[in-house]
Amino acid sequence: MTAVHVTAPAKINLHLGVGPLREDGYHDLTTVFESVALHDDLTAEPADDISLVIHGEGAHDLPTDRRNLAVLAATELAAYTGTRAGARLTLTKRIPVAGGLAGGSTDAAAALIACNRLWNTGLTTGELDKLAAALGSDVPFCLHGGTALGTGRGEQLTPVLTTGRRHWVIAIADTELSTPVVYREVDRLRAAGHGHYHDDPAPLLAALRVNDTDAIARHLHNDMQHAALSLRPQLTDTLEAGLAHGALAALVSGSGPTCVFLARTEEHATTLAERLRASGTARAVHTGSGPAGADLT
Ligand code: ATP
Repeated sequence: MTAVHVTAPAKINLHLGVGPLREDGYHDLTTVFESVALHDDLTAEPADDISLVIHGEGAHDLPTDRRNLAVLAATELAAYTGTRAGARLTLTKRIPVAGGLAGGSTDAAAALIACNRLWNTGLTTGELDKLAAALGSDVPFCLHGGTALGTGRGEQLTPVLTTGRRHWVIAIADTELSTPVVYREVDRLRAAGHGHYHDDPAPLLAALRVNDTDAIARHLHNDMQHAALSLRPQLTDTLEAGLAHGALAALVSGSGPTCVFLARTEEHATTLAERLRASGTARAVHTGSGPAGADLT
């Protein structure tokens, strides 16, 4: 087997309902994920041991040992299968680090897919799902991509029936947000009586089924947005700039600080992205349609 190349798409949450803190330290979630066409690239080549080289967005600040989720995923897969083979991983990052787009999780999923193929382990999808869930709550979704409902801590997935494609504009902030810190802020705000669990994505799911863009725009929702804005008030300017320039809807992606905007068409997304760039309220602005598929087979 020579090199295996896998695309690792970012995810956004079209609905993110955060339940109360559980005894195991996680929150119950009701979320609708969608993978979008903003992606990292991962290549796995035959080698004697597992190593990682990173290029691109945030490359200098990321670890290349087991603290990197791509290396951890390859190491866990090797341990599970008992293979003695290694892999030289090369990762090209475009997804911002700690941006609320599941960059690390999608790299972990890509490493599972690439090494599973490189080592010809013959694992079933179910076995890969279990390994993915142990690596992180978002990793099982990243393994499959598409549009899916996530429950539990986000790892229990049901595919969402949907037609057509959606056109997103993705505004990258010049700051990071740590996911655990944003969860703590959600808990703090809830304790002070602000915000509650939005656990019913049914109206959004109905809109997705028929790809009714206006209804989708109305039902996009993020329970973490309040906390992300409390920690990074300047994101309000980004959201307002997008709406002022014609976005159908604007919301913080996951735990932030990335902001996403729904556009009506691909052309509309391109124009909106240009205007947002000119507004100076984001470090970088991308367009990306969804759902983008992961490369499981
Ligand atoms: P999520 O949306 O799943 O909460 P995120 O997009 O906010 O995640 P990540 O980019 O996954 O955040 O990074 C979170 C932390 O994970 C960073 O502090 C980073 O050091 C670590 N990390 C480990 N491996 C990676 C990787 N391959 N890419 C990015 N971050 C990684």
